[in-house]
Amino acid sequence: MRVTTKIVFLCLLTSCSSTNRRRTAGGEDPVRKPLDAETFLCDFASKRFEPEDRAQARLRIADRLSLLGLEPKMQSYDEEVRNGYVRGRRFAGVNLYAELRATVPSEEWIVLGAHYDTVRVAPGADDDGSGVTAVLLAAERLVDLKVRRRNVLFAFFDQEELGLVGSSVFVKFLVADGRKVVAAHAIDMIGWDGDGDRAVELGRADAETRGDPFVALYEKAAARTQGIGPVIRTRMGRSDHVSFLDAGIPAVLITQEYEGGDWTPHYHRKTDTCANVHFGYLTTAAALVTNAVILQLE
Ligand SMILES: [Zn+2]
Repeated sequence: MRVTTKIVFLCLLTSCSSTNRRRTAGGEDPVRKPLDAETFLCDFASKRFEPEDRAQARLRIADRLSLLGLEPKMQSYDEEVRNGYVRGRRFAGVNLYAELRATVPSEEWIVLGAHYDTVRVAPGADDDGSGVTAVLLAAERLVDLKVRRRNVLFAFFDQEELGLVGSSVFVKFLVADGRKVVAAHAIDMIGWDGDGDRAVELGRADAETRGDPFVALYEKAAARTQGIGPVIRTRMGRSDHVSFLDAGIPAVLITQEYEGGDWTPHYHRKTDTCANVHFGYLTTAAALVTNAVILQLE
């Protein structure tokens, strides 16, 4: 298989910063407005299927990362992809990611990701603008932690809807780069809670790992997360966590109640708009994931 993956560094708005916190010429932090989930997602929720629309979406995400003092990086690929969903077809796309370094020396990485593409017809507010928003909300809290004992990689995968394409390529890059990824959290569809119980499902939390580390982790995180409902373990595959599991990396999917039967009726439809997203649920679930990652950084 021919591998043509290349990494392109992207600098937006202002020049690239080598530190995790951008400073003004006077040396002070610029005023950083907290991310308003609804404002961001309603802006973000438009079709992200064609290359030009996906490029627009990447700019919106990269803007937010830059505001946090993170350096958005693009991973362009044009190669054959082979996994459980696609068998050696050629794809061209772009993953977006940013690194947040540990505050103490560490070789270990935690990945927190969501896919930013959509199917052709849907504006993808829930699928997966909600996951993208949740990762950005988490990033906002994690950059401010005084102590981080591991590195964090925020990842925004392309072409999940075509068969976990972007995440497959991304995992290959991590493995080739020799990164020690100790856990990957993939958030996909965390914007629907029709019955209002604020339950969260953990997909395949026990796969390829011993002793259900993610279930214990998320139960502990739930105890720290005000307003969250039950945390339920399922066998759900069908999202980017599978790319990590296939490479032997401990990974979990965080999603709304698929097996619990409280799944959005707007899935892959034109009506997957921000008007049909439950923002209280989204932000509470984002806090849960953030608390789980914080536990892994303590
Ligand atoms: Zn999705």
